Amino acid sequence: MGLFDKLFGGGDAALSVPKYTHVKIHPQVDNGIPPTSPDFGGGKLSCKCGNDPVVVEVSAQTAHNHVCGCTKCWKPDGAVFSQIAVVSRDNVAVKQNGEKLEIVDPEAAIQRYACKECGTHMYGRIENTNHPFHGLDFVHTELSPDKGWAAPEFAAFVSSIIESGVEPSRMDEIRGRLKEIKLEPYDALSPPLMDAIATHVAKQSGAVK
Ligand SMILES: [Zn+2]
Ligand SMILES: [Zn+2]
Repeated sequence: MGLFDKLFGGGDAALSVPKYTHVKIHPQVDNGIPPTSPDFGGGKLSCKCGNDPVVVEVSAQTAHNHVCGCTKCWKPDGAVFSQIAVVSRDNVAVKQNGEKLEIVDPEAAIQRYACKECGTHMYGRIENTNHPFHGLDFVHTELSPDKGWAAPEFAAFVSSIIESGVEPSRMDEIRGRLKEIKLEPYDALSPPLMDAIATHVAKQSGAVK
């Protein structure tokens, strides 16, 4: 195929051959992102313990699922990013072996409840009623065997993966891969979520009615 055909003759496919398939992001997105099921109603999350796992029921579909590069979110072994979504706290209930849960950092804005044995974070909760995300719990839907959970939509805190030890020289290929799989990379949260936070702050200060 000549250059002209490549540019103008082959449709979009000719120009969008993935270049970065060797770059691993997270097991849930590396081999194609499973689609959201429109009438999905939730499921059960289990920690990684072989015996007596902690089981948390999430009784609704999640929202704002994304991969996250921050150093606080729980990641499966070897993954560069975590995958995390939110759901109303009313829809999160510990069903089994809750005595194995402990809060990772009681001082943090998000209180992450992790299994003491295997380290898996089962849910994160915000108790500060003034926080923009109060009322939402953070969950990792990959801990459920069910299919149909909300698909990830973007990548948050991408630059922060360097803080976890990723070589800065790898950032081009990592951002390249995220774009290929349509997870737009941001170095904070996505614009709608940043706007939601700013709106909350502006309403508290009175800058916006
Ligand atoms: Zn466990
Ligand atoms: Zn995070």
